[in-house]
Amino acid sequence: MKRYHVTTFGCQMNEHDSERMKGMLESLGYQAAAEQQEADVILFNTCSIRETADSRFVAHLGHAKRVKRERPETIIGVGGCWAQSLKDEVFAQFPFVDVAFGPGQVHKLAEFLTSDSLTAQGFFEFEGFAGDLPDKRTRDHQGWVQISVGCNCNCSYCIVPQTRGREASRPFDGVVAECERLASEGVREVTLLGQNVNAYGRDLRPAKRTFAELLHAVDAVDGIERVRYTSPHPKDMKEDVILAHATLPSVCEHIHLPLQSGSSRILKAMKRTYNQERYLDRVALIREHVPDCALTTDIIVGFPGETEEDFQMTLDVCEQVGYDSAFTFVFSPRRGTEAALITEGLVPHPVKVERMERLVEVVQRRAHERAQRFVGRTMEVLVEGTSRTDPSRLRGRSRHNKTVNFTGFGQPGELVMVEIERATSQTLAGEESLLARAGVR
Ligand code: SAM
Ligand code: SF4
Repeated sequence: MKRYHVTTFGCQMNEHDSERMKGMLESLGYQAAAEQQEADVILFNTCSIRETADSRFVAHLGHAKRVKRERPETIIGVGGCWAQSLKDEVFAQFPFVDVAFGPGQVHKLAEFLTSDSLTAQGFFEFEGFAGDLPDKRTRDHQGWVQISVGCNCNCSYCIVPQTRGREASRPFDGVVAECERLASEGVREVTLLGQNVNAYGRDLRPAKRTFAELLHAVDAVDGIERVRYTSPHPKDMKEDVILAHATLPSVCEHIHLPLQSGSSRILKAMKRTYNQERYLDRVALIREHVPDCALTTDIIVGFPGETEEDFQMTLDVCEQVGYDSAFTFVFSPRRGTEAALITEGLVPHPVKVERMERLVEVVQRRAHERAQRFVGRTMEVLVEGTSRTDPSRLRGRSRHNKTVNFTGFGQPGELVMVEIERATSQTLAGEESLLARAGVR
């Protein structure tokens, strides 16, 4: 029996790509190995969140190199966005790598492994949607469903259009069929994935479809109790999508709405195609239709040209919106992007760090304040397992995407009602409602 080992870096999209790599390897008869040194195929699914490979990745690769020295027949593969951004240069930098492939080329790995090729090969074409691969889910009751690949936006800091290509939507019926299959396997929560997930469907032929239509169809799948999606673009956050949150029982009360910057001037330089006013207008529309909706965001600090006034506008928007949480990034130039060529107005590193600290303070303080609205409420929680800090307690997730630690009886995959007693900026804590368990609500 041949064995594989996959190490994943980066975002949910990459985690899902790794699930597909694993599913594909298992369909070829491979089994998972606990450690790299036990594996016949060692894979890395890389991310280009930093321009240069980060030290963690280099250390992992160094380890794989030693395994290869001891057992030269071991196959070392590097996939994902970082591999795509370097293409064949991967082999020059790391000559012990046998196969390298971009995010859209996971299926080519099978071709490589089943061929008799002895020479290193790279697969970096974009082929539109190649979503119908088997996957091996990390969680029994939660599933990711890729609904599109690539991105047609042109954000000046972003490498994704280069590494994942033009946007291509997966056929509507295929997405719904996958959700039905997942439901039949016990999945209760699906997360629809796309780089610009709410642009879904415009490229479909003969008839275009909309993302809101897809939400309706997935909501109608028996057994799927929760629908989430990531990442949407504020420009495509149309009213029909917001209304889906208000009206469809399974569409969760959580929207991730990447802000990037609160300054209209910087947003323009970023080519985000909205300004502060239009962004806040979307927030207002969300709050009008779904008043309790959790809002989360992505913010970049220190984009070239960002002045103290620009940064202050980002802080102002964070104060005003009151995000439930935020992913915060320090701007880093990425190979081949427009922003990487800017040489004027670069923000010195210490200034970026200082701004980041101030931003995190505002985000966390507001998240803490916002989270207090849950205290005293009884909330539906999807049980995921035991608490990471206290094994006598359970851990799950609320519809608002908050981690909830609680005492109770629920089994993984069960939806239970939890009385929330305390809230921090990150997590909620409480006790399972015994009345709800007894059927008295
Ligand atoms: N498609 C997603 C979207 O538009 O929200 C984004 C994918 S990107 C991998 C995730 C986040 O990384 C972005 O929202 C942005 O905040 C951040 N990011 C992307 N490029 C960056 C860069 N060059 N420097 C710092 N942060 C960056
Ligand atoms: Fe990158 Fe997201 Fe902009 Fe597309 S929408 S270019 S993935 S930041």
